[in-house]
Amino acid sequence: MPDPFIDLHAHSSVSDGTEPPADLVRAAAAAGLDAVALTDHDTTAGWADAADAARELPLTLVPGLELSTRVGYRSVHVLGYLVDPDDAALSAETERIRDGRLSRAHRMVDRIGEDHPITWRDVLAQASPGATIGRPHIADALVARGLEPDRSAAFRGILHPASGYYEPHDAPTPLRGVELIRAAGGVPVIAHPAATSRGIVIDEAGLRELVDAGLGGLEVDHRENLAHGKRTLLEWADRYGLFVTGSSDYHGTGKPNRLGEHRTSRRAFDEIVSQATGSAPVVGPGSRLP
Ligand code: AMP
Ligand code: FE
Ligand code: FE
Ligand code: ZN
Repeated sequence: MPDPFIDLHAHSSVSDGTEPPADLVRAAAAAGLDAVALTDHDTTAGWADAADAARELPLTLVPGLELSTRVGYRSVHVLGYLVDPDDAALSAETERIRDGRLSRAHRMVDRIGEDHPITWRDVLAQASPGATIGRPHIADALVARGLEPDRSAAFRGILHPASGYYEPHDAPTPLRGVELIRAAGGVPVIAHPAATSRGIVIDEAGLRELVDAGLGGLEVDHRENLAHGKRTLLEWADRYGLFVTGSSDYHGTGKPNRLGEHRTSRRAFDEIVSQATGSAPVVGPGSRLP
């Protein structure tokens, strides 16, 4: 039997992807995936619709989220697989983060609006009701207004941290993020840790702290991870007994990333499922996993 086809990082319109959760799960099945994880930023609101769709398809859904954390200006994303979505501490923190994202986006749009014809209403028109708001929605509003050609151009232009309009949003530290996910029965994995030209998002001492707090793995195969950083990540994984994953970080039409462009091994998948106590994968009829 060939290796199962597993992609553990994808976004729906519940955050900054462009398809509703059920459509995302259908797209994953159509792409031939055996397992897909729904990992919207700072929310589990898409889980129920995604699960309903998975229950009619020969595929396994791994419900998750991508928690925004930061150290100073440096943003660190922590994937949390199979958490208990009703965990009080995690829910309170994700709500705080979403509130902070909303006010930060509003302030950024006020400042952009002083120089360009864009309003907060333009941004809200680009997001599903209740979605986790981020720069991608501001980008879509800029595109709709003809101020930028597409999302990626907006990130290189008006939304770039050097543009003068940027500000970070409130977020917990990565350590707190890992602790919250583990305490909610989930399995924490640092997303795209080597995606910045300044190197890996944390140093080895910082990683050790996260390992002690229950970090499970590192997302090594990701289109934005730089080659020299990946080598260090593999060394660290080996040294600290972490599993490694590979995933697409699919955002629908919002980013060039395609479903399944990077894969996670069966071994890492099994490790995640066996470590998790917060919730279980949703196994559709005829799925090969678990
Ligand atoms: P924010 O968290 O609001 O600062 O926005 C960052 C988010 O925007 C990341 O999670 C990415 O998913 C998305 N993003 C970053 N760069 C790009 C890009 N070039 N094109 C589209 N989306 C991007
Ligand atoms: Fe995103
Ligand atoms: Fe991310
Ligand atoms: Zn992501």
